[in-house]
Amino acid sequence: MSAIAKDIVIAGGGATGLYLAGRLLQLGFSCRVLEAREAVVSHSRSLGIHPVSLELFRKAGIEDRFLQEGIPIRKGHAFWDNEKLGEVSFEECPAPFNFILALPQWKTEKILEEWVQSIDENAIVRNAVVSGLNDDGQAVTTSYTRDGIQGEIRSRFLIGCDGKKSTVRQLLKIPFSGSPYPDYYIMGDFTDNTGFGEDAAVYLHSDGLVESFPLPGGMRRWVVKTQNRIESPSLSLLTDPVERRTGFRLHGTENSMLSSFGVEHYLADILYKGNSLLAGDAAHVVSPIGGQGMNLGWLDAEACVGVVKKAFKKPRKKNKLFKAYSSTRRKKARIVARRAAMNMWLGRSENSGIFIKQLMILVLRTRLSVHFARMFTMRGVEK
Ligand SMILES: Cc1cc2nc3c(=O)[nH]c(=O)nc-3n(C[C@H](O)[C@H](O)[C@H](O)COP(=O)(O)OP(=O)(O)OC[C@H]3O[C@@H](n4cnc5c(N)ncnc54)[C@H](O)[C@@H]3O)c2cc1C
Repeated sequence: MSAIAKDIVIAGGGATGLYLAGRLLQLGFSCRVLEAREAVVSHSRSLGIHPVSLELFRKAGIEDRFLQEGIPIRKGHAFWDNEKLGEVSFEECPAPFNFILALPQWKTEKILEEWVQSIDENAIVRNAVVSGLNDDGQAVTTSYTRDGIQGEIRSRFLIGCDGKKSTVRQLLKIPFSGSPYPDYYIMGDFTDNTGFGEDAAVYLHSDGLVESFPLPGGMRRWVVKTQNRIESPSLSLLTDPVERRTGFRLHGTENSMLSSFGVEHYLADILYKGNSLLAGDAAHVVSPIGGQGMNLGWLDAEACVGVVKKAFKKPRKKNKLFKAYSSTRRKKARIVARRAAMNMWLGRSENSGIFIKQLMILVLRTRLSVHFARMFTMRGVEK
């Protein structure tokens, strides 16, 4: 067992860890990503890349691949039961990224992985499960197991991007405060037979929310609010409510993914300890309704890059820099969590009264829709 030295070790090579690694490597830092999984998992979670993230990708010079593979959503149609209330357009968002890019998360992670490997082919160490850390004040020694063999890497900093159940966060004994929401959903990807094209659609229905987003390859994602948690998803548990609430019949179309999920919100009490930082879902979990968790992780990662860069230059300021990172990113996570909570609140059947309907009409048919679009595209949390 030999300890090798790097500037930075990243625990977890999901969306956050991969983006962070690419940016740090671009700046000339030596870096290793320890990732438990053998390969990117093709189970689909996130699909929305927001303009604030596309701006980061442009800064990194990697936006083209995403734009080639994704679908730009420029508009969303809003319905109240089956009645169309109005539209939210992203066209007034700052050009050139005046749209939300729809791309399944696994494809996004693949692109990021290839980018990281194009800078340093050895940067990502797969099958490596982080299990321990020892911070001597000068550096962190991270222990991991790979194919049954123990390894160690010593680095100036360790960044935990290892998701909701973060081992790094647990090893640092940082509490993760929060709870589940009382909301459950089923989602699936189907051949698109709607005629919405590249537009999204949201149905605020008296039986509960339905969201519908375009996907590459002529497919469409449907997300349906259910009364209870669905333990074993089946096609009819999604297609029946979609038909009842929207009029679209999905029976007979091709289905490529089906899953159910509950939603929750958690926030780490602090995002650093010693020479370690937390970013992405390791630091906070927000509800996917509103689609911002992955994007929030990239914003954390970009902030981490700035902090690490400065901390290498001025080591004596490290504590101050880490503290500021923690307080700013926690604040941003709270804003995003509040916005997601509002989206979920609107999607609950008990909130489908006439007052809410009139409020939605006011928002959608006036300039208030521009503010709504800004909020939906994560403006105000990007810095
Ligand atoms: C149904 C659903 C839909 C969603 N839709 C959206 C959306 O539209 N938009 C959006 O922005 N977000 C969305 N999200 C949220 C988004 O998926 C997460 O916020 C995002 O995956 C977080 O990325 P991450 O890299 O921080 O964490 P993760 O994706 O959890 O990645 C963590 C990585 O760390 C690895 N790891 C864990 N433990 C260890 C260990 N001990 N050692 C080494 N490696 C380890 C894991 O294998 C994993 O690869 C959605 C989530 C769900 C569940």
